[in-house]
Order: sequence, then C-alpha cells, then structure tokens
Amino acid sequence: MPRLFALLAMIAGVLLLARTMVEQTRPGPSPGTFRAKRSHRRDDTAAGGTEIHLTRSELAQVRDALTGAPLALDDELFRCARCDSFYGVQSVRALANDNAARCVSCGSTQRLSVVVDG
Ligand SMILES: [Zn+2]
Repeated sequence: MPRLFALLAMIAGVLLLARTMVEQTRPGPSPGTFRAKRSHRRDDTAAGGTEIHLTRSELAQVRDALTGAPLALDDELFRCARCDSFYGVQSVRALANDNAARCVSCGSTQRLSVVVDG
C-alpha cells in the first residue's frame, strides 16, 4: 500500500511538472497572429501630414489590404496611418459601410491619401 501511494504521488508530480512546462513554453499571443509593424505611426502623427508621396515602382507590388487585388494606381489610393495597409477608394468605401471605416489590419480609422509620383 505505501508503494501505491508513492506511485500516485509520483504521477501527480509528473503531471504538475508537465503542466508547468506547457505554460512556460506557451507564447503570449497565439502563433500565426499577424501583428503589423507600427514603426511609422509616430512619424505620421508628428508630421501632421494627411498625404504620402510614393512612386509607381514603390507601389507596383502593393496590394489592396481588403480585396488582395493589385492597387489600381490611377485610382484614388489611401494608406492606413498606423500600419501601412493600402486601400483603393472602393475598399475605403466598403470599410466605411461595413467596418465603421476601420482598417482591416489594425482597426485604425486614420488614413493618409496616397499621391503617386512619376
Ligand atoms: Zn491599419
């Protein structure tokens, strides 16, 4: 009987240890959750600018954050002031209607108008 008790105590100890290890190795936010960089947030706010100038080549590989389609550079374009997501004017209207004008990536309602140079 004492041996059975010792065995149960050992099993309980192992389970406790395993649980502690799982909790220690678990990262905070769930893995794979997209976290946009916010490095430009301060700059835009400090500058107080409402538009950003970019060239066609800089925008060539950029896609609309809502539709995933390539940006139509001849249309009116916008960039989220917080997370650098880009939107065409149609997507901005769709966000205004269906998402309280919030960015799909970060939830910001602040947007910069994109001026395409060159
Ligand atoms: Zn955003």
